[in-house]
Amino acid sequence: MKDKSLILRDRRAKIVSTLGPASSTKEMIKALFLAGVDVFRLNFSHGTHEDHAERYRIIREIEEETGKVIGILADIQGPKLRVGNFANGKVTLKNGAIFRLDLDPALGDEHRVCLPHKEIIQSAKPGARLLLDDGKLRLTVRNVGADYLETEVTVGGVLSDHKGVNVPDMVLPIPALTEKDHKDLRFALDLGVDFIGLSFVQRPEDVQEAKAISNGRAWIITKMEKPQAIENLDSILEVTDGVMVARGDLGVEMPPEEVPLVQIQIIRKARSLGKPVIVATQMLESMISSPTPTRAEASDVATAVLEGADAVMLSAESAAGQYPKEAVSIMNRIITRVEKDKEWTKLMEATREQPQRNIADAIVAAAQKICATLSAPAVVAYTHKGTTALRMSRERPNSMIFSLTPSVEVARRLALVWGIHPCTTNEACIPSCTVEHIVDEARKTTQEHNIVKKGDQIVVVAGVPFGQTGSTNLIRVTEIN
Ligand code: PGA
Ligand code: MN
Repeated sequence: MKDKSLILRDRRAKIVSTLGPASSTKEMIKALFLAGVDVFRLNFSHGTHEDHAERYRIIREIEEETGKVIGILADIQGPKLRVGNFANGKVTLKNGAIFRLDLDPALGDEHRVCLPHKEIIQSAKPGARLLLDDGKLRLTVRNVGADYLETEVTVGGVLSDHKGVNVPDMVLPIPALTEKDHKDLRFALDLGVDFIGLSFVQRPEDVQEAKAISNGRAWIITKMEKPQAIENLDSILEVTDGVMVARGDLGVEMPPEEVPLVQIQIIRKARSLGKPVIVATQMLESMISSPTPTRAEASDVATAVLEGADAVMLSAESAAGQYPKEAVSIMNRIITRVEKDKEWTKLMEATREQPQRNIADAIVAAAQKICATLSAPAVVAYTHKGTTALRMSRERPNSMIFSLTPSVEVARRLALVWGIHPCTTNEACIPSCTVEHIVDEARKTTQEHNIVKKGDQIVVVAGVPFGQTGSTNLIRVTEIN
């Protein structure tokens, strides 16, 4: 317990890592955390509630042991369409073969598999495309029966259990949250997760529906993976707490050449609102079966960091791959290296958002300037609901941001946010607390983490009276002695 508050990441962009069969033991989850994971993702498209509850318990145990807060994201499947399972776990579909999709739950083979979505069968017309496993395989509908589709394999390959199906040519009459989603959502919220990932959102109303259920218990992270959601980007960003550039499904539903530009657009808009944005999927895809990434993958992670994303994410690399630890380590190394570069500093400066016309923004913008002028190694932001910390992060200061909050829930959410080292505090933020006391605590916190030396100046932002949300109005410079 002695060294517990001393784990400090030497970088601004965060790492989200998905847990799965390759990463479900405590030993492995702890190794991933120590290698650099800030937020773990529980993917409700796979695994049972018991699996997720067990991983949740392990993460909280690691949090307790290390004293560093860890964010947990429950990713809700949404109306994702998937094939059923195969007798042998997988089949190989040959080009030109006839393959049937039906409503029969029996295990599949190379002639047929269950497609448990009658909406697809009802909406399909001959000639319509079905894209399987993130578009790796393609089927074209030849005949439509009452309870089956007969398709021709246009692009073959290996199809395994439960792979996703996209139908870009069909408009399906399906709700944003399925029955399973409602159950998963309640289960995840009761567990105590910090973020809910919402899949296949099309409209801001979809986000609001989940928000109403969550009722402030978790941040809603809207996954941008449908062209309809990109069209509604502004109105979705207005209501969501954060977004994910979910490039897997996005790249299937949209032409791949659009994806990099959409990524830039989403990051830019999320940053301008000060809402966290995660770049996800295929970041280090080849590391599922290789201990080193391709040059293009290293470049992809670097690009997301240079665009100022809050976080980069690992999916199958850490959930089901052979090299989960290596994937996290490489990601950590790439981010750390990029952020040491002058180009990165210049880009963060060039893309800094203008403060909005309110006191909190005036304070954090001033704090950023003071940090730069004094080369302050840290700015300490006292935050009640996380807002001051989010606005401070939006400034993308060159200094490390320590957020201090009495709420462990708020601290855990801030684990996802660019540049923030979240800490909890017992004493500050109560109305009777003095300014001297919090400045003292700010100095101590940065000293404990070994990021300041005698003579350094640090900046403190807070709101007085303490313990009130939306009161950010204080800025203080203090010297380490
Ligand atoms: P998924 O979402 O991994 O749940 O499909 C991410 C994506 O589509 O990129
Ligand atoms: Mn997806």
